[in-house]
This record gives sequence, C-alpha cells and structure tokens, in this order.
Amino acid sequence: MKITDVKSHVLAYDLPEELGYSQQYYARRTAHIVEVSTDEGITGWGECFGPGPVAVANRGIVEGVIAPMIMGRDPLDRDVLWHHVYNLLRDHGQKGMPLQALSGVDIALWDICGKITGLPLCKLIGGQYRDQVPVYGYGMMLKREDTASHIARFEDEAAAIKGMGFAATKMKVGLGVRDDIKLCEAVRKGIGDDFPFMVDANHCYTVGDALEVGRALDGLNAYWFEEPVAPEDHDGYRELRAKLTTKISGGEAEFTRWGWRHLLEGRCLDIAQPEVCALGGISEYLKVLALCHTHFVPVVNHVWGSAVAVATNLHLLAAMPPLPGGLFPREPMLEFDTTHNLFRDNLLADPLDIQGQVARSGGFAKIPNGPGLGVEPDRDFLKKYAI
Ligand code: CA
Repeated sequence: MKITDVKSHVLAYDLPEELGYSQQYYARRTAHIVEVSTDEGITGWGECFGPGPVAVANRGIVEGVIAPMIMGRDPLDRDVLWHHVYNLLRDHGQKGMPLQALSGVDIALWDICGKITGLPLCKLIGGQYRDQVPVYGYGMMLKREDTASHIARFEDEAAAIKGMGFAATKMKVGLGVRDDIKLCEAVRKGIGDDFPFMVDANHCYTVGDALEVGRALDGLNAYWFEEPVAPEDHDGYRELRAKLTTKISGGEAEFTRWGWRHLLEGRCLDIAQPEVCALGGISEYLKVLALCHTHFVPVVNHVWGSAVAVATNLHLLAAMPPLPGGLFPREPMLEFDTTHNLFRDNLLADPLDIQGQVARSGGFAKIPNGPGLGVEPDRDFLKKYAI
C-alpha cells in the first residue's frame, strides 16, 4: 500500500459570541483536519492542534513540507515515517508548528492502520482497559464584561455544567489575582462542596501571583491548577508543587519525548496533560505516556478541537494503563469543551453526541468501536466550512 495524497481541511466559522481566556479573546472557531489517501482506497483522518492563522500556516507545513516526504511510502510504517519527517525537520523546529503538523499526519496513519486491520485504535495500541471514560466539562470562559458579571455568570455556568451530568468542571482565570480568586469562589459556590473543579490559568501568572491564587484554591479544595506559570518556567512549576496542596497540571504546550523528559525529570507536574494533536501524534504520545508513567505521573490528556480529536483521545484513554493500579483507581477523564463548537457536534457523519451520552450515563462517554478512530467526517460539512 502507498500514500497517494495528504490534504489539509482547514475549517472556520464565526462564533455566536466572543470567547476568551487569559491570553486573548476570539470570535472565530477553527479546526484543521488532515486526510491521508492511499492507492487502495483507504483514507485516514487526523487533526492538528492550532487555531486561526496557525492552522492556515500549519496547512502549508502539512501539504508543502511533510506530504512530499512521505508520498509513495507505506502508511503502515508509522514510526519509520515519523522519524523520517522529524529528522528532516529537526533543524527547522523541534517544537511548535512542525510538530503540530506532523501530529495530524501521524494520527491519520494510525487510522489507516486500524482500517487495514479492522481494529479500533485502542486495540492496536495495547488493548482496552475500559469501554467508557468519565468526562469533565470545561466552560466559564472570559468575556469583555466587568468582574461582577463574570462572578455571577461563572456561578451559574458551573452549576449548569454540573447539572448536565459531567463528572467535574474546569474554569478559566485571567482577570488578575484578586478577581480570579473571586471567580474561583463563585464556581465553588455554584457547584457545592463535593463536586470536583479545576482552574486553568493558561500561564498568565508569575510564581508569586500563582502562589496567592493557589493558596485560595487549597482552601476551596480545587482538584488541579492548570498551567499556572509559563511552560518554560520549570523552576516555577516545581516551587508551586512544593508549596501548594492543589495538584499542579500542565504540559499541553510541550512537545515530543525530549521536551517531556525535562518536565518529568524536573518533577514539575502532579498531573500531565499531553496534547496528542500537537506533541507529535499518536506515535509520540505513546512514548510520552510511557515516560510519564515511568516517573509515576498520572496522565489526563489535553483535548481541544473537533470530534476527530475527541475520538482519538477516547481511544488513548481507553488504552491507558491504571497508575499505580488498585481496586478503586482514579479513572482518566476526557476533557470536553462545553462552549459553542460545530466541529465537535456536527463534523461527523455519525456524531459522537458526548453531551447526550454524559446526560444519559451520569458523566461517561463510550469508546467508538469501529476500525481506526471509528469516526468519519461528513464530506459535505468539510466543504461547507472550508477556508
Ligand atoms: Ca489548558
């Protein structure tokens, strides 16, 4: 079998309302789906992390740089092709956009492998520990409104996400230390004392500010404090871990086993959040997962993007070994965006309907059981939203 085409589908639409996190507001939703075709008619699907103009630029890397390197090669040689591309791109970027672009291609190769063998991805990568996973719903994004409006909205939205049946919820912060603490208190008030909540700073704090917010989170019994400081600040991560009770999580902005090595050896994280659509795809994710578990750091995948990314992550979570094992282990959770997202809800010919599953099951989503990722994008939908 030979690879005959590698194509990027970059999709976009205008959100009904602007959303924000600690770094920026955005009014358009984008997705970058990769399609790899073969001479035997089997097509694989993948996804690249990276919004807006980043997706457009990554399309240039996928189609202009990576495609010529793998055209005519056997799609089953996933790891061979990964190292071929990585070695040729190493001089031009060992992190960031080249790896995001490679990730989407690698995921599509795994999808092809599943379709050839007739096996779901989770069976291919080691086997299925679980046929469903708990789902946490994130929302509570920043908007251009005053603090009082944020506080009222966060309390209501947290209660609403809990009411939808999710297993836990996650909020954004980024208004500044004092106001952020008020937002966290509002979320705790909205969900009551026993429901788990997490706080995502998207690296907007210095260590000093993160300590102040983190001490408030300790008092509110938050589950984890995500990306409190800049991803490069390994010393900052380590210091926060030593001084706070709330678990410190991060890693969505880290790439490859070589980047992850330093985060893990530096003992920077209580919870690792690798992003399969960015760090190098499934081939590299499996190495990063092994490295995390080598250091006894539990993994809760970072998930962002369309239903293709959600399906990929469902398989990865299904195949994740328990760490360290026991009668009542903490199950790996699926991260799920509860904000407006057509690419999550309507991209697939047969939608996953995660929200419906969560509502019906009390917080769980099933692992797709078809070959490969087990999902197929609707081609009319791809055409309609293409840019
Ligand atoms: Ca995050």
